[in-house]
Amino acid sequence: MIKKIFKYFGLAIAALVVVLLVKTLLYQSKQSDVAYKGPAGISEMSITNLSNAIQFMTVSNEDPSLNDTSEFALFHEFLRGTYPLVHQTLQKEVHNKFALLYEWKGKDTTLKPVILLAHQDVVPVVEAEWERPPFSGLIEDGYVWGRGTLDDKGSLIAIFESVEKLIREGFVPTRTVLLAFGDDEEVGGKGAIAIANSLKERGVDAAMVIDEGMVITSGIVPMVSKPVAIIGTSEKGYLSVKLSCNVDGGHSSMPQAETAISILSNALVKITNNRPPPTFTKPVKEFLRYIGPEIPWPARIVFANRWLLGGVLKSIYTGSGPGNATVRTTTAPTMFESGIKDNVLPTSATAIVNFRLLPGDPSSEILSNLKKIINDNRVSIEPLDGVREPTPVSPSDNNAFNIIQKTIKQSFENTIVAPTLMLGASDSRNYIEVSENIYRFAPYQLNPEMLETLHGNNERISIDNFKAMVGFYCRLIRNAQSMK
Ligand SMILES: [Zn+2]
Repeated sequence: MIKKIFKYFGLAIAALVVVLLVKTLLYQSKQSDVAYKGPAGISEMSITNLSNAIQFMTVSNEDPSLNDTSEFALFHEFLRGTYPLVHQTLQKEVHNKFALLYEWKGKDTTLKPVILLAHQDVVPVVEAEWERPPFSGLIEDGYVWGRGTLDDKGSLIAIFESVEKLIREGFVPTRTVLLAFGDDEEVGGKGAIAIANSLKERGVDAAMVIDEGMVITSGIVPMVSKPVAIIGTSEKGYLSVKLSCNVDGGHSSMPQAETAISILSNALVKITNNRPPPTFTKPVKEFLRYIGPEIPWPARIVFANRWLLGGVLKSIYTGSGPGNATVRTTTAPTMFESGIKDNVLPTSATAIVNFRLLPGDPSSEILSNLKKIINDNRVSIEPLDGVREPTPVSPSDNNAFNIIQKTIKQSFENTIVAPTLMLGASDSRNYIEVSENIYRFAPYQLNPEMLETLHGNNERISIDNFKAMVGFYCRLIRNAQSMK
């Protein structure tokens, strides 16, 4: 009998292995077959223009009184002088003082426009920690140095260079192209809100919005040696909740069983023990589907058989901070305040818990779950201002996504493309009523070392990368014309 059981067990295992292998062999690549077209013949002058743009200190400070608005005015003058054809051909509008919107009217106004976004502002620097001056725009050994080269003036100047070049070449768009450049993305994005509201009022429904966010990574996606261009199809949401507890006080020589501190601590423990479970949302499922076929054997078997082995992938994700944040609505108690003296019972305690919401986890749901989890009337729960819902997920099976994918393949050799979920935020979140097709991607080529320089020290861009970016935007505008 036992022998028989083993025999059937052995057969079942063999059958399972066959199924896993067949599924892996039939696992089709999602990469489109588009040929690399090489660099797009970008002039050296474009490098000087980027270098000059970096020298404007368009810094967004958390304390707005520290901002030097004259730098923005000078930057606008620089753009006008450097890109005369853009300023002769496109209609320019200024919103909320310094945010810029340009309209390049297409011949066929019945076609939906495309919108290219970037932001003018940069984060502050700690100058002493830089190896080269952060606002020098120094050109050295194949790089342009300075704050904003990667976030996000590199992209902004590449867009200006591409439009100027297309006009010079006699290109006239069939489809309207809008360029929108916020001036305060790093501190909330009021400029982007003003532009997006104005477009909404005009009833604009765009075929595509493309903004910064994800990039072309190398050495970052595990087991993939080729560069991977990741396109953010959704952004996580943001919710901070204030928990407070008020009870009677008294002297610590005769304490009640619980004080405000212990009641609130207990609530925090419950929250931490009942974190939302890990889930693969649509953008992450799509990421795995695009990346999986490019993973070498035998690891590819896991990706091709997510129906059985998805748990393995989930535990890999939850094992690292960024991975965990990708598959989970994260919970982080960030502040706690209570008590005034060592021998006085605290009558009140407050705590703040910060949540980053996955698509499909609206803030209302988190709040009602919190109530159930804490299950204690003595704790009041109140969301703080600044709630951002997770954005809708933009499709990856439509023309807009395909156009971006095609343009990447034409402009960056041997590059794999994959949609994904973005953990951070961009100006584009304000455009969800302007377009269903919002993609967070700017073709910066980043390895782990360069990634560190974002919002850090020694930010710089390679000249080759910048030239390829100009080529990318030229091709994107041309390719987008034929989009259905
Ligand atoms: Zn940015």
